[in-house]
Amino acid sequence: MKANISHLRELQAIDQKISTLDKEIAASAAEIDSRRASLVGHKEAIDLLTEKIAACEQQRRELEAELEDEQVRIKDRQAKLMNVQTNREYQSILKETEDGKKTNTQREETVVQLMEQIEALKTKIEEESKICEEDEKMLAEDIAAVEKKTSQFTAEKSKILKNRESKANAVTASLLKKYTSIRDKRNGLAIVPVTGGVCRGCFMNIPPQLYNDLMKEDKLISCPTCHRIMFHQTETEEE
Ligand SMILES: [Zn+2]
Repeated sequence: MKANISHLRELQAIDQKISTLDKEIAASAAEIDSRRASLVGHKEAIDLLTEKIAACEQQRRELEAELEDEQVRIKDRQAKLMNVQTNREYQSILKETEDGKKTNTQREETVVQLMEQIEALKTKIEEESKICEEDEKMLAEDIAAVEKKTSQFTAEKSKILKNRESKANAVTASLLKKYTSIRDKRNGLAIVPVTGGVCRGCFMNIPPQLYNDLMKEDKLISCPTCHRIMFHQTETEEE
């Protein structure tokens, strides 16, 4: 039984190492995903700003066309003024001309506002582009680092797995099955030490009789609370 316990402890140490490596790779991959998502966000912001600029430009072109048309109408009216017959007609054309000029002034002001808006949007695009450039650079660096890490892990893992196989072969199939089943259910911890009469898996006291049995090391004993396989560990061994 002592040999079985020692095999299982070795097996568990290997399994915990594998699980740590897997978690590290997953964490790095998640980091890359979040950086990629942030990059996409900034690129979408640039697209949105570009659309806004296009809309402003369109509005500006329309206003400039209207300005020109109005200018033509104003000139026409001024020509007409030379040949009017009545004062009423004269006043009416004069008013139309004034109204046209007023409207054009408003149009010119709006065009200036639009141009300012476009400039501000372009500045924002520049800022977003700079962020994108930095993000892309960091992303490339992160990907390279993770690829290196992953290939190191993969090489290490295959060595570890070979070692694991030899440890797993050292115990009976039924014991291995029991170990695997507890490990799956109990957060990767199937075999735990007992120190000072306390199970180090669930930190509950174990009954004195069970503790005495455990000291004999002649059979497999599970914790009555968390059902993990227990082994006796002296205080010095723990150090
Ligand atoms: Zn327990």
